Amino acid sequence: MALDDTSLDGTRHDLDQLKAMTESLPGIVFQFYRSHHGKACFPYLAGDSKIFGDSAQRELLSEDASHAFDHVHPDDFPRLMVAVERSAQSLMPLATQFRHCEQEGEEYWIAVRAKPERLNSGTLWNGLMVNITEQIEYQAHLRELSDTDDLTGLPNRRKLMCHLKREISVSNRHGTPLSLMMIDIDHFKHINDTWGHLQGDKVLRRLAELCRGLLREEDCLARLGGEEFAVLLPLTPLSHCQKLAERLRHEIARHDFGLPNGGVTISTGITEHRVGELRDQLLERADRRLYSAKRQGRNLVVGN
Ligand code: GH3
Ligand code: MG
Ligand code: MG
Repeated sequence: MALDDTSLDGTRHDLDQLKAMTESLPGIVFQFYRSHHGKACFPYLAGDSKIFGDSAQRELLSEDASHAFDHVHPDDFPRLMVAVERSAQSLMPLATQFRHCEQEGEEYWIAVRAKPERLNSGTLWNGLMVNITEQIEYQAHLRELSDTDDLTGLPNRRKLMCHLKREISVSNRHGTPLSLMMIDIDHFKHINDTWGHLQGDKVLRRLAELCRGLLREEDCLARLGGEEFAVLLPLTPLSHCQKLAERLRHEIARHDFGLPNGGVTISTGITEHRVGELRDQLLERADRRLYSAKRQGRNLVVGN
């Protein structure tokens, strides 16, 4: 159908409006093209100039997409390329996220969604990119909260279990030593009953700080719940773990927790991971040794 003058004006007006609108979008509208020979470019890019720069940079990208790929975080680049390849092969929508790095060191998380279509010479995607840095940071914050014990700020049981899984797999793969300590405060109920729950909480916090100060950065000290703690020690054989457990026991027993009458002691079960064994077997053995320390009179480390 031929356009008369008035409808042409209308179309121009619509196009101008569309252009103005896309330029102020909180994201990018794009076309991405990849030829069968691997040549890639962005024939169309509009929107948030924070993501792909000014019109001069976009001019470059309309010829060669590699300038944009130079800004993709090296840890995310392979995943992005795999997603593009899969989408090109299957003609299923591209849906992934990656970090975009600025020269000044600033990083943004970008979510990309795009629909591919097959052309004779290659594949063309029409899609959107949105800056999702705030959501990613918020997710990380929520994860941190769900992994942290409120009272002491230490990793909680959930986090310890994740660490254990990872460290056991490293130990199984490389045959490297891995030790575990299970710590339980002696007669803690008595501390609560005598000095009150708030004083008991203070003891838990102080004990956590004390242990943290005596451990290496890579050792994971966690509060399992109540007055029970665990320490996971990567690259540490039982003999080293034993020395460290004795040191913790000694330092805690001599520490002034501010209780008017007497100190605080701990009982500890220690064990080393045996290649091939499951997480729960390791935990159970450490637990059995902890209760053996209790039976033998408390304020003790048991390692066999
Ligand atoms: P044992 O030497 O055999 O370990 O004796 P215990 O008294 O330490 O052990 P028991 O399991 O009988 O008591 C643990 C107490 O820890 C009971 C519970 O009220 C207290 N508790 C658990 N969580 C908290 C907490 O977050 N704060 C305080 N103040 N007390 C807690
Ligand atoms: Mg207990
Ligand atoms: Mg106890």
